[in-house]
Amino acid sequence: MDGHALNDIQATVDADKAHVFHHLFQHAKLHTNDPRIIVEGKGMSVWDQNGREYLDSVSGGVWTVNVGYGRESIANAVRDQLIKINYFAGSVGSIPGAQFAQRLTEKTPGLNRLYYVNSGTEANEKAWKMVRQIAHKHHGGKKWKILYRERDYHGSSLAALAACGQHQRADQYGPFPEGFIPVPHCLEYRAQWDVENYGERAADAIEEVILREGPDTVGALCLEPVTAGGGVIVPPKGYWERVQEICKKYDILLHIDEVVCGMGRTGEWFGYQNYGITPDFVTCAKGVASGYAAIACMLTTDEVFEKFRTDPDDEMSYFRDISTFGGCTAGPAAALENMRIIEDEGLLANTKAMGGYLMTRLEELKEKHKVIGDVRGKGLFCGAELVADRATKEPLAEKLVQSVVASADADGVLIGATSRSFKGMNNTLCFSPALIVDEPKIDRIIDAVDRGLAKLA
Ligand code: PLP
Repeated sequence: MDGHALNDIQATVDADKAHVFHHLFQHAKLHTNDPRIIVEGKGMSVWDQNGREYLDSVSGGVWTVNVGYGRESIANAVRDQLIKINYFAGSVGSIPGAQFAQRLTEKTPGLNRLYYVNSGTEANEKAWKMVRQIAHKHHGGKKWKILYRERDYHGSSLAALAACGQHQRADQYGPFPEGFIPVPHCLEYRAQWDVENYGERAADAIEEVILREGPDTVGALCLEPVTAGGGVIVPPKGYWERVQEICKKYDILLHIDEVVCGMGRTGEWFGYQNYGITPDFVTCAKGVASGYAAIACMLTTDEVFEKFRTDPDDEMSYFRDISTFGGCTAGPAAALENMRIIEDEGLLANTKAMGGYLMTRLEELKEKHKVIGDVRGKGLFCGAELVADRATKEPLAEKLVQSVVASADADGVLIGATSRSFKGMNNTLCFSPALIVDEPKIDRIIDAVDRGLAKLA
């Protein structure tokens, strides 16, 4: 860290305390603590205002910085693009916009159209607006309901909270738009059915909801490929095949929310590609440009696209939607370079290899610490669920889960934990290091967690 005189730092801390309304933060805590200000990053390390280094195992806190910090080539790509042309509305084209759409859709066979927006929430809203417009235009106003799954999260707007499977995030913000219907979660560790083929049974529960609601009222099913903040839930074997069958059977559009899993996090470009399914909508955000620019997008099929250009003389027959900053060129310029890095540095292969190593190390921790009830993950997206008692699976109190996070922090390692989410389940430690991680860094992360867990005992 350089160039930060002490009084500048104090002034910055004071300015932050006096004026910034932080995301997802209990400001009451600031009466006792100074805010942490991250001033620099390189690779997988970040430095705070006091020059203290942290190894970041959560890629910017919320699973975002897939290619790591300090990538000058991305900064240069953005800089060069901004000097040429920074902005024009998204109703016209841009060079990086067209190039990135082509490059990304090469990775998503069947999904040939890309719609630019700024955030994961917005990308999801666009997909749902399309579902609603298709319902009005092509299904006589029916097929307007959108199913979502318990424990999944799709964003912070009112519609996204209407589709929020983590009730604590939504509890204070109703009333919500209508027509968002929950289906049961599929976490086998907290099984809701005593059966052998748990994946199929959990998918059948979706069919039960469809039949209850009436198949002609249901337009889409929205699912995370691996549930993120709801507890790092990898759907069990057999789940996705049944889900696809059910969607086909009832003519329901399948929307996969890849905001976290997209761009390599699970070892494939997209999480759904681990399961051989063919979605109708894919939404992505965080890893698209690894946080070097605010860019998100929604991908869909030619079939869906065609529904929005049925009649050139009908003023209502196109997608009457806009996103002002979805036309910024910095986003796709950063995304193109981000994608080049993932390809040239072999980061998908590294994610698979290091994801395997991380899971092995987490399994070892589970052997050692009874407080770990379950470990699960896909690629470099892993979780360890903490319980007070392995037999009853009673979740470990949030205060204790947070003490493990705090202990790792004191050791200079940033780890995550699922936030206040589903029926008191705030008990899963999360690990999602940048896709450049290596074994020694994973060892450092595991050692810090090991020490934190030992203190609990
Ligand atoms: N979908 C999922 C699965 C997410 O985890 C998030 C954010 O964490 C979102 C959507 C919302 O994305 P954003 O915060 O960019 O609106």
